[in-house]
Amino acid sequence: MKIVALAGGVGGAKLAHGLAQILEPGELTTIVNTGDDFEHLGFYICPDLDTVCYTLAGLANPETGWGRSDETWNVMENLEKLGGPSWFRLGDQDMATHLERTRRLRVGEPLSQITKAFCEAWGVKHAVLPMSDSPVRTMVNADDGELAFQEYFVHRRCEPRVKGFRFDGVEGAEPAPGVKEALDLADTVIICPSNPWVSIDPILEILRPPFAQFDGAKSVIAVSPIIGGQTVKGPAAKMYRELGIEPSAFAVANHYRGLLSGFVFDRRDAQLVENIKGLNMRAYVTNTLMECLDDRKQLAMEVLNFIGEVL
Ligand code: GDP
Repeated sequence: MKIVALAGGVGGAKLAHGLAQILEPGELTTIVNTGDDFEHLGFYICPDLDTVCYTLAGLANPETGWGRSDETWNVMENLEKLGGPSWFRLGDQDMATHLERTRRLRVGEPLSQITKAFCEAWGVKHAVLPMSDSPVRTMVNADDGELAFQEYFVHRRCEPRVKGFRFDGVEGAEPAPGVKEALDLADTVIICPSNPWVSIDPILEILRPPFAQFDGAKSVIAVSPIIGGQTVKGPAAKMYRELGIEPSAFAVANHYRGLLSGFVFDRRDAQLVENIKGLNMRAYVTNTLMECLDDRKQLAMEVLNFIGEVL
């Protein structure tokens, strides 16, 4: 079975990690959102890409969900003493990633190639691709004006009310090398439990043309990031509310309506099953909260079995 997983950061990385425990390296390609990439302190930072790679490599910080485990903060502490900006925390080990990535980008190496080289260095065996080598920037239309994503997400702690989103640069951006090929070969695309608005929508915008070419044999399955009307982490539920939609697994299924052949959501939302089936997709109810490696593997296994049924 060949699978393409679409992922943002934390939620996406956890399911991709589960899938990587089961599928062979040639069977899984994870395509990652780069809409929340930004430049900070002179570094080119790719938060979602790094979360996915660190997670697959077993190097991620399990408490924060971002950054590296066993991290030290010498640079950050000294930067703060000098009055430098400290709202975006970068650990010492993590900083090496940004330093080397920025150096390579400056000499013309594309992001996809850099990601491949880093994955090899970290021992990540399953392919990880940025959605595009061209910069695409998620812009948040908030009640007090338009904000760059990290400004909204980290600096302003998601406090501004959102009115909509714009993916700057998406019109001219091509999928990264390998993305179209992976989609052509895939039996199924799994939309991981990531934020639909700001983690998955940017990838879907980039993928529109190859998705449109999907033939009937291909299925698209999504896993809900919303459990019991709430997010496990992050602002997805708050965003739904501010956009006038009640946050729920149904709202997520409806968000991807027309694209999905199947939807996986939590037991706590089992009462939504008929409504979700009414969106013309198969429904599968299980425990979707991934608190440990076994949970990730178990959910991945059930999603793969469900795909078998849908196909
Ligand atoms: P971010 O860029 O780090 O915010 O990453 P994502 O978009 O991938 O992750 C945020 C989403 O993941 C939130 O909507 C969470 O509810 C969801 N999420 C995180 N952990 C889990 C989990 O264990 N299970 C499910 N179903 N969703 C999760």
